[in-house]
Amino acid sequence: QLLDPEAHPDRGDIDQYSPYYSPLEARKEIHIVLQALEPAEKHARQWQRQATQILLNSDTVNHEYLPILGHPEFNAAAARLILGPESSAIREKRVASVQTISGTGANHLGALFLSKFYSFREDKEVYLSRPTWANHPAIFRDAGIKPAEYPYFDPKTTGLDFNGLLKALNAAPERSVFLFHACAHNPTGVDPTQEQWKEVARVVLECKHFVFFDCAYQGFGSGNFDQDAFAVRYFANLGIPLLICQSFAKNAGLYGERVGALHFVVEDSEMVNRVQSQLSLMQRTEICNPPSYGASLMILIMNNPELFEEWKQDILTMVNRISAMRNELYRLLTEEFKTPGRWDHIVKQVGMFRYTGIGPKESRKLVEIAHVYLTENGRVSLAGLNTHNIRYFAEHLDKVVRG
Ligand code: PMP
Repeated sequence: QLLDPEAHPDRGDIDQYSPYYSPLEARKEIHIVLQALEPAEKHARQWQRQATQILLNSDTVNHEYLPILGHPEFNAAAARLILGPESSAIREKRVASVQTISGTGANHLGALFLSKFYSFREDKEVYLSRPTWANHPAIFRDAGIKPAEYPYFDPKTTGLDFNGLLKALNAAPERSVFLFHACAHNPTGVDPTQEQWKEVARVVLECKHFVFFDCAYQGFGSGNFDQDAFAVRYFANLGIPLLICQSFAKNAGLYGERVGALHFVVEDSEMVNRVQSQLSLMQRTEICNPPSYGASLMILIMNNPELFEEWKQDILTMVNRISAMRNELYRLLTEEFKTPGRWDHIVKQVGMFRYTGIGPKESRKLVEIAHVYLTENGRVSLAGLNTHNIRYFAEHLDKVVRG
């Protein structure tokens, strides 16, 4: 007989205010938002449409299985995007890649692999930023790895708790596993500067830690792929043992196609074969073969210089649009509504999200009174704001803050 699944302690982990899980009403709201696209967005994604056309007109399009590790051309192009065309790890064939079910699948497979094959010094533990993407602790727990935390966001400065982070790196046992968001940290939008990353890398190297990079927003931090890959490339060039989880959901707008990759940067090419052989076995028990449509699109987009250029331009357009929303929201709250509280973090944070600093009570109220859907920790997706709805949002945020 089945035990009552509802009685399990993990129940309730899913964020009920995330648009993915919200009731029908939320769907209607989202639809309204999507109908009110900005001009820049209406003309966006030509590269995606063009790639779709090329694919559909091609004689080679089919519905065969991909190899277990995924499309080799996709894996190679994805590795180049994150590690850079000059990467010595790629040149020396020291990258073991596998195509995954988007970023979530990469995180899951990465966690499972470490649980089986990482030489944990003491308990199986992973250090996650406080706060982090709500799914991280659950993914690691499911893989038999205990989630621990390191300080990251400092509510006093609404910036990075750099000293707290360095202290945690030093205090952790040697060869611990640290998860870093490669760029555009979710949910805080707070990233270390390049100088801070260098210092983090120095301590990581000294303490022989392993780095689990989660890269779900390459391009959305700075508007530039290379700049957003700074930390990953810097760490890889120093020879720090690491893996990278890569998602194309946001930066290529391929959410539903589940396009992602997991890359291990290892010490020699001999090790690549060993890692890939185990990854194949793990992939086989879970999905056998990764999905081919989105990966085929990304091969075209990443390997065709014209489409690639258009894609890069669109990312910049989106980042600039989100940045304009940040500035306008800041202006509305501080100048027009004179909303109580500090709001400079709005313009300091980067990426798609804004960590508002409001608590669960206020977040729930925003949902109830205004049908503005956000996660309970007060994180809103700025990509959902546009010139049509920003005033409405600011007005209701102001009301909720005033209580
Ligand atoms: N990592 C982080 C930090 C994320 O924010 C997300 C998406 N919310 C993911 C991974 C996974 O996204 P996906 O599976 O859609 O690629």
